Amino acid sequence: LAEKLQATLADVRGRGTLTEDDVNAAMREIRLALLEADVNFKVVKRFTNAVKERALGSDVIGQLNPGQQVVKIVNDELSELMGGESVELKFSSSPPTVILMAGLQGSGKTTATAKLARYLREQHRSSVAVAACDVYRPAAVEQLITVGRQAGAEVYERGTDADPVEIAKWAHERATREGKDVLIVDTAGRLHVDENLMKELAEIKRVTNPTDVLLVVDAMTGQDAVNVAEQFAEVVQFDGVVMSKLDGDARGGAALSVKSVTGKPILFASTGEKLDNFERFHPDRMAQRILGMGDVMTLIEKAESQFDEAQAKELERKIRKSEFGLDDFLDQLRQVRKLGPLQSLLGMMPGLGGHQLRNLRVDEREFDRIQAIITSMTPEERRNPEIIKGSRRIRIARGSGTNVQAVKALIRQFSQMQKLMKSMQSGKMPDIGALMRQ
Ligand code: GDP
Ligand code: MG
Repeated sequence: LAEKLQATLADVRGRGTLTEDDVNAAMREIRLALLEADVNFKVVKRFTNAVKERALGSDVIGQLNPGQQVVKIVNDELSELMGGESVELKFSSSPPTVILMAGLQGSGKTTATAKLARYLREQHRSSVAVAACDVYRPAAVEQLITVGRQAGAEVYERGTDADPVEIAKWAHERATREGKDVLIVDTAGRLHVDENLMKELAEIKRVTNPTDVLLVVDAMTGQDAVNVAEQFAEVVQFDGVVMSKLDGDARGGAALSVKSVTGKPILFASTGEKLDNFERFHPDRMAQRILGMGDVMTLIEKAESQFDEAQAKELERKIRKSEFGLDDFLDQLRQVRKLGPLQSLLGMMPGLGGHQLRNLRVDEREFDRIQAIITSMTPEERRNPEIIKGSRRIRIARGSGTNVQAVKALIRQFSQMQKLMKSMQSGKMPDIGALMRQ
């Protein structure tokens, strides 16, 4: 889906002026791309109409960059389609908060139960228990014991002989008695939505009175996933969706349709088999991921509001004349850091879609160390790092709370950077990838 949309939008993006025909042609392509991605056809129709209306409205015609505006509209509407704002779990004012997990067999409930337990322990410092109410599938209880413990949750189980509704009730009482913040109830699923499953689920819901009912939906099943969600919505009220196996869903159809078909937002995305492949779902970020363009707007806005233009010009002049010293480097580093954590800046950089840089872990502490080292130097040393030897190096290391190796490494890197800058043709950007790998 991403490729198709990108190709279509790349076409539109460059246009200086935009006619109604351009918009119509683009919408035709977008419609096809969405249908191919297995997005529900009603959703597709509503979506393309909304985009077209805004694109043809006063919004765009006569704008400076109409093509870019269309891209922004598509981006906005994609995000809107998935609910716009990200939605949080509810927490009960009288613990435990009970979260009931529902969904078909194999949708990823047990995995998501453990992932959510881990997430709540880490992000909310909650004490979490999980209840094993799938007594039908062989080894289902064993599976929850394993992953639940990995997640650091206490596992409440009574084997496979007890009745699921009884277990749920017992687990709720026990969680209350033991003062757990959260109880997550893992339930059984069938291959298809059936009456017995629904009855049992409704009973479990009645006896545990959950704060949130989460439906786990397998993104890889595309259109089917949405149908399942719709059927569940008719029988058991749920509050939100966990979209599982998003890592295997190249098309994005399920994620795009589920909110507008069921009216329920996606709260979490499960993106792999490991426990930490789990995150809150942000419609705007998902839209950008689908468009594969990074959050260009935010990046530009941030840069504009933070960078002093005069300063940037001066910097450019210094680079040309090779007067760029450690003081300037420190200045620049501070400017960049004002924009936010470097990790998130990388994520917003366009064109890094599948690039390895995207997965680069930025260690912010490394930048703290660099700042500390530079600020421990005298003005003279900052201008002429070559003079930093022996006792100066020891003084700087002490002053910055680092060590001699770190001081040496910084000076070496800086001199490499200076060389690189000198060799740069004016106006050309250095290869950021190469810089970061150094
Ligand atoms: P349940 O029957 O609903 O409890 O589903 P399980 O949690 O047992 O998951 C079924 C299978 O899907 C298991 O093999 C999981 O490892 C796998 N699975 C679950 N979530 C994800 C995910 O986000 N990505 C991938 N790739 N596999 C997943
Ligand atoms: Mg299970």
